[in-house]
Amino acid sequence: MSEIYPLQGPIPHVPDDLTLPQFILDTRHPQRPLNTFLNPWFIEEATGRQIGFEEVRARTFGLANELKARWNIGENDIVCIFSPNHVDYPIATWAIHRLGAIVTTANPAYTSEELTHQINLVKTKHIITHSTSLAVVEASAKETGIPLSNIIVIDLDYKGNAYSTVDSLIKAGLSKEPTFVERRLNPGEAKTKLAFLICSSGTTGKPKAVAIPHIAPIANVIQMAFYARVTEDYTSYEDRRYRVGDVTYAVLPFYHIYGLVVNLHFYLFCGHTLVISSKFNFTGMLKSIERYHINHMLLVPPMIVLLCKNPEVKNYNLKSLRFIMCGAAPLSAELTNQAVKILPDVGISQGYGMTETSTTVTFPRIDQKIGTPGSAGELLPGCIARVVKEDGSLAKFGEQGELWVKTPSSALRYLNNDEATKETFVDGWVRTGDEVIMNERREVFVVDRMKEILKVKGFQVAPAELEGHLLEHPEVSDTCVVGIPDEYSGEVPLAFVVPSQNALERIKRDPSESEKVKASIMKHVSDHKVHYKRLAGGVVFLDVIPKNPSGKLLRRVLREKAKQLKAVP
Ligand code: AMP
Repeated sequence: MSEIYPLQGPIPHVPDDLTLPQFILDTRHPQRPLNTFLNPWFIEEATGRQIGFEEVRARTFGLANELKARWNIGENDIVCIFSPNHVDYPIATWAIHRLGAIVTTANPAYTSEELTHQINLVKTKHIITHSTSLAVVEASAKETGIPLSNIIVIDLDYKGNAYSTVDSLIKAGLSKEPTFVERRLNPGEAKTKLAFLICSSGTTGKPKAVAIPHIAPIANVIQMAFYARVTEDYTSYEDRRYRVGDVTYAVLPFYHIYGLVVNLHFYLFCGHTLVISSKFNFTGMLKSIERYHINHMLLVPPMIVLLCKNPEVKNYNLKSLRFIMCGAAPLSAELTNQAVKILPDVGISQGYGMTETSTTVTFPRIDQKIGTPGSAGELLPGCIARVVKEDGSLAKFGEQGELWVKTPSSALRYLNNDEATKETFVDGWVRTGDEVIMNERREVFVVDRMKEILKVKGFQVAPAELEGHLLEHPEVSDTCVVGIPDEYSGEVPLAFVVPSQNALERIKRDPSESEKVKASIMKHVSDHKVHYKRLAGGVVFLDVIPKNPSGKLLRRVLREKAKQLKAVP
């Protein structure tokens, strides 16, 4: 067997001369259901404020106009959005695109060190942020030389007057004549014109900026819409998964590719109203399902764990729920079965994808309410897959190997990093670094991860980033970070550490020093890194970190060791 093609035939035309806002706001693709412009587009979860298509589009133009007039933002300028989900998040994204500029999204929970790293990596000069993140942004701006006048606040709650707000810019932009010329693309240009720079660690090393052209999210939306047959009455209305006018919860962060492309763009394209949630809160989510009659949710596995274990679920009327899509990390067959018992009327199934394939490669099977247990979904039309065995030969159905995919939604490269680009983007293929088994139905089962990254609650954690940081601690002379399984988070980081000579001598004199050194190492991480990178798996001292003769860490050996440690009661 060579390449594996999806069962559904080739995908329909993907426009290669449109930017993302032109595709989503200005045109109607044949795969888009009729009347998708009529329902409210967004509802702000906290306030119930509704925003319809006309207003969304007008706000996008208003903001683009003022960003041009005030800061002359234009071709290939890079603007960072460092904010929780907000109704003006997509509006800011599309305004930046209309100017020919590029959006880099960052996790608003980042510390200033993490944000500074991203600013230096992508060289942004403008930051759109939330008032609760201003202290972090100001510290990073100082560090990187970004003028404070280039900071814009997204939320209406901002009471100060030091910064412009998105809302005031929109009003100013709408009250003046157009100052900008919409960036239009020549045929084929959407394949190279960058829309996003989003961080991912790839197979190895520290976070890198993934260069995503406009065509990538557009193609992915069309792939999903075509696969899910959202324009066809292929089945009775009652049995249809996606219906125009459905209400979808948008709690997945828009800074992550799954939230950005699937939760935001795909569901809008289907004609759904998005209830925009700025922060995950389990009770708040249950209340919103009841209040807004939510039909669809996109979740990550820890949220499913809560649905299964939290008794509050019984106190709410969740009858409106029809389908839950889970992704970003593995959802076990056991957990799926538990969730089905709790919510017997709701379809629950997984998709799989990554930033480098922006986004989905597989999708919850459209002919099943509950996905095949343990399966990450079916290969999407438009994707071609290879499963490459350890010896380099191609696996047959049912055999295990690394998944390689060729897809029109593929990113182009890692920004300014030829070496990492060559490892992951090979002759049009993306090497996923995930070990899978595929069956004849083109269902993918993710069985292991060959790449270094950990997925903690669906968030990427790069061991190399933590190892670099740990080596700055005076008591650490060598280290290796691996993941250990965790029921709620999926996995959590554990650091194997060779203590410094000084620490060893202290511990020799007084064994109780050992715990103090470990606590100080853990604090070193929690003081400087976002919450999910903390060493929740602990610190384990070793005499030496195993390495091969050329000095490469033998990570697998330590992963196995960590599993054994975990097994000790
Ligand atoms: P990210 O770029 O942050 O979306 O991370 C992509 C990685 O998340 C993939 O390469 C997988 O390792 C993992 N992943 C995403 N979805 C799934 C899934 N359904 N099952 C198992 N792993 C997944």
